[in-house]
Formats: sequence, C-alpha cells, structure tokens
Amino acid sequence: MAQTVNAMVLTKPKTLVAQEFPRPAIGPDDGLLRLEACGICGSDYEQYEGAQPAHEDYTPYPVIPGHEPLGIIEEVGARARERWGVREGDRVAVRSGYGCGRCNACRRWEPRACPKRGGTYGYTDVGKAPHLWGGYAEHMYLSPYSVMKKMDPTLPAGVAVMFNPLAAGLSWAATVPRTRPEDRVVILGAGQRGLCCVIAARAAGARQIVITGLGRDAAKLALARELGADVTIDVESDDVVARVREATGGGAEVVVDTTPYAPQSLNHAVGVAVRKGRIVVAGLKGQRPARDFPVDDVIYKELTIRGVLSMPVDETFRAIELIESGRYPFAKLHTYSLPLEQAEDAIHALAGQRPGVNPVHLAIVPDAPRVALGRG
Ligand SMILES: [Zn+2]
Ligand SMILES: [Zn+2]
Repeated sequence: MAQTVNAMVLTKPKTLVAQEFPRPAIGPDDGLLRLEACGICGSDYEQYEGAQPAHEDYTPYPVIPGHEPLGIIEEVGARARERWGVREGDRVAVRSGYGCGRCNACRRWEPRACPKRGGTYGYTDVGKAPHLWGGYAEHMYLSPYSVMKKMDPTLPAGVAVMFNPLAAGLSWAATVPRTRPEDRVVILGAGQRGLCCVIAARAAGARQIVITGLGRDAAKLALARELGADVTIDVESDDVVARVREATGGGAEVVVDTTPYAPQSLNHAVGVAVRKGRIVVAGLKGQRPARDFPVDDVIYKELTIRGVLSMPVDETFRAIELIESGRYPFAKLHTYSLPLEQAEDAIHALAGQRPGVNPVHLAIVPDAPRVALGRG
C-alpha cells in the first residue's frame, strides 16, 4: 500500500501544482476515501480564477480543490462504520459540507446548517492536518461528520458522480420554485446544471420547458430536447425575451438562471417571468453587477427572486436514486474523464477556453488515460 498520496494543490489563483502527502492514519471516528471520480463545475473555475468572495468557511488557497467526490471506502474506523453505515469496499457519494458533529444540524446530517460548520471539502486549508481535504487527489480524508450515501458500484464512475449537478437541478428547477404541472419553465443556460434542470422540470411534470444556450451550444441544446425540453433558443441569434414570450404564449411561471458570468441574464429572467413568477438565481456572475436591472418590473409583476447556493442533503439522496434508476441517459451528459495531472485542462475546457471543445460534464478520474483537448 503506497504511503504517499498524489494531489493537485491550488497554491494561488490559476496555479495548480502536483504535490505528495503522507497517507493519514485513520482512527475510530474517521475514514479514507479512494477517489474514483471528482466532478467539476462552474465553481471550480471561479475558485481557480480567485473570483469567489471571502466566506467564513471557504479557504481560497492553498487548498486541494474538488468538492464533488465519489469513491471507495478504503479505510474506516469502527465508530465511523456504524455512524455512516458503510464498510471497506463500498462505493459512496460524499457531500461537500462536513460539520462539527455535535449540534442538532449535524445530528440531522445537514452540516450546512451547522453553526460551527466544520468546513467544505475542496475549500479547506491544505496546511491543516491531515491535509487531504479535497477531491483532486488519489485519496481524500473523511472527517467524522462527513455525509455520504452508498451508490451502485456497477455504474460508470463518470455517470455516478453526476449526483451533484443533478441534485442541483432537482432543487433549483423543481423543489425551490415548487414547480407544478401547470407551470411553464424557462431555464437560462445549457451547461450541466441547465440540462439537469430540464430533467428535474420534466420529472416535476412541467407543462412546457424552454432552455437557452449560446451559438456553440447546439449539441447541448439538442441533448436538452432529448431530455425533455420543448423549445431551445440560441441567445446569440435571437432576442431571448421576445422569443421566450412567443414560444410560451406570454412568459413563464418559473425561470431558473444557471448562466455563469452573465449578469444580464437576470434582466432576461425578469423579462420572461409572468405575474407572480418565481425566479431562481444560481449561476454566479464573478462579482459583476447587472446593469439596467428592471426593478419596477419586479414590483409590478410581484416576482419572487430567490438565490440558491448548493442544495439540501435530501436532494443529493434523490439524485442518487434517480441516477441509479436508469430513467435518463446520464452517460450522454458525461463528456470527459481526465487524469489528475489534467485538472487544469479540465477547468479550462469547462469554461469554454479550449477551442473546439465544449463539454457538458467533466470529472477528474485519478487513473484515467490522458485526453487530447486542443490548445488553450
Ligand atoms: Zn460543484
Ligand atoms: Zn454541527
């Protein structure tokens, strides 16, 4: 058994460095995960760029990034085995937040609500022992109050690890806006989360689903149709607000904004929402403000605008069950599995910075073969 663990460390913005760490000793309350895959999302890019605001339990760097881990329990202490209900060899999906372990929120397995929140995998100071606090690594330390769920080991790792974007879709396009069968749903943005919102809105029985994307997103919009979208709109060749109003016969009850770095999409969301509409804002804008925001329309239409950051643990568990059900073609959403040393490539590719490459979902898979991704 190797006594060192390879990991990628974000030492400062835009600098990921390969480093070795000692394999930690595991006690009765904790464990060690052997990573099979770590999903990458828009916030990995923001973290890499240094665009995330300071936050009480987010260390910007140095950290081992990676907050969407999936892996095999390699070691687990006796008490942790009881508490988590897992054994060595089990495949588990791990939630990014871990808690203090003593408060009511932690006892309910909701560490995000923990007042002394332990922290977040992918955003914990790498200097803090035992160092392995992120998913861009061969192994990740499992702190005593980690939240995890077993997953079907026969699913491909790149598919199983989609529990995170799918949980977001279920929360943002169905649970938070209370989507009902009579609702028209507009999803702004056709990335992994936008497409998972299509699945969630379809599962909620929405009357009509419209999704927008860029000109280069043609393949993603085609996939959106396959997943249940009724109308797809290219925001670069169409007037979004006019096209959505026309397609929906006046607008939508539910609008979900998943677009990253595009603050004007919030103006579009207000423009396409009907009276008493519910707008869910999820795509971070890299601290850029929306210009000419139509405040009076929010008032006249009596809109609800709700920001969302991550999602409750129940949605993670529902997402795992939905992936295991095989009801949706998740394999078509997973574009690349990249080895650890290509973590930087993965981040650039997801951000659209590799010409000719426009992936939906990417994961870091420690033992994956190298993938040629064009020039950056
Ligand atoms: Zn993420
Ligand atoms: Zn707690």
